[in-house]
Amino acid sequence: MRFLLPRDLRAQILRESEAAHPRECCGLIEGIRHGEGWRADRLHPAPNLSQDADRFEIDPAVHLETQRGARDRGTAIIGCYHSHPDGRPRPSPRDRAGALEKDFVWLIAGSGGVLAGFVFDGADFHPVPIVEAG
Ligand SMILES: [Zn+2]
Repeated sequence: MRFLLPRDLRAQILRESEAAHPRECCGLIEGIRHGEGWRADRLHPAPNLSQDADRFEIDPAVHLETQRGARDRGTAIIGCYHSHPDGRPRPSPRDRAGALEKDFVWLIAGSGGVLAGFVFDGADFHPVPIVEAG
């Protein structure tokens, strides 16, 4: 299993993470699932609706709208991304509590340009290697 992430999308997540600091940036990832994992095609940055600095909340209306757009393009919303201003690129207890969708990929930006990938299997997160593409 691996997550193919084009270089410019990786750079975009890290830019958004820096811009949102000390709050969390967040967004949805559009792409496709295939035999070896996933391939990201585009990002959909979303405003962070959370009032708390150490969490994120994507507007459900934005989620629905991006799902519809992806379906029209023959792709899907395969995951989400957000940043951890405290620098630790691992799912937090709040992330665990908020994770619902099975086989959904979570990219988490930490400090120093670190980006880590995890897949939620319905019960827990498991690390997924991020492979930089073109
Ligand atoms: Zn988090």
